[in-house]
Amino acid sequence: AAKRQRREWLAYDAGQAVDTGSALSLLSELRGAVVGGQLRLFLQPKLDLRHGEACSAEALLRWQHPQRGLLAPAHFIPFAEQTGFVRQLTQWVFDASCRCMAALAGQGLSMLSVNLSTRDLVDAQLIGRLQASLQAHGVAASAFCLEITESAIMDEPQRAQATLARLSAMGFRLSIDDFGTGHSSLAYLQQLPVHQLKVDKSFVLEMDTDPNDAKIVRTIVELAHGLALEVVAEGVESAAALAQLAAMGCDKAQGYHIARPMPSEDFGAWMAARRAG
Ligand code: C2E
Ligand code: CA
Ligand code: CA
Ligand code: CA
Repeated sequence: AAKRQRREWLAYDAGQAVDTGSALSLLSELRGAVVGGQLRLFLQPKLDLRHGEACSAEALLRWQHPQRGLLAPAHFIPFAEQTGFVRQLTQWVFDASCRCMAALAGQGLSMLSVNLSTRDLVDAQLIGRLQASLQAHGVAASAFCLEITESAIMDEPQRAQATLARLSAMGFRLSIDDFGTGHSSLAYLQQLPVHQLKVDKSFVLEMDTDPNDAKIVRTIVELAHGLALEVVAEGVESAAALAQLAAMGCDKAQGYHIARPMPSEDFGAWMAARRAG
């Protein structure tokens, strides 16, 4: 049985079509993960480059699998998106994020980013579920930024636009994730009620050694500011890249050089240690 299961996972990891039997077993494992408390919320800080404080963070999902250990989203999010189960994962992540915000706001956390997928943008129940979590934990929508990739928006541009307008009206901030890798037109993006662009890490990872990458990042920073949007760089792995970003006027930075994603329960201590110097 162990061998069969391993083969199913490998088949899925290779990005091939999963046969019906394997898909059903994966789906039931994922359901088990939600009800069995195997999901974990990790947080990765974002550094504000104007005053050097880390008062915002991104929520990143992990699955503490009983046999396979701690799994990164690449192992299960694409499958969850295919099957639509990602809507349940989003609900879990957002609820856990509201709990974190309620606990950490007093310690200086002012903005938490949560990832949404295409499936969420076309989910008629999304708004009601988000509202219920906000109310249950007594936190405001304005404390959350929802990150959506260009490609998720372009999958269903009309419905995405309608959902984003409602989310913005509720008070959520909205961010375009992986910016620069999609195929959306600027004219279209400009119509969306977006507050932030997130420069894709493929341009940032080697910007300190590749002048072309640095030029692309600079261009995106200027574009964002020209549209009065905040701009965040992800994938900041070196002090040199961080210094370049600050010099370009980039607003925020996120990456291993600042901190790796950490269990949410460690985040308060991380912020306190940073403040202590
Ligand atoms: P993303 O939204 O682009 O998240 C950033 C990813 O880059 C994270 O990977 C993060 O750990 C990684 N990263 C951060 N700093 C660095 C760095 O300096 N260098 C490098 N090489 N990588 C860095 P992670 O946590 O494995 O998540 C991968 C993707 O899975 C995310 O990409 C996002 O698309 C998706 N994902 C994660 N959590 C959720 C979730 O709750 N819901 C949904 N729908 N998708 C999620
Ligand atoms: Ca993201
Ligand atoms: Ca990203
Ligand atoms: Ca390059």
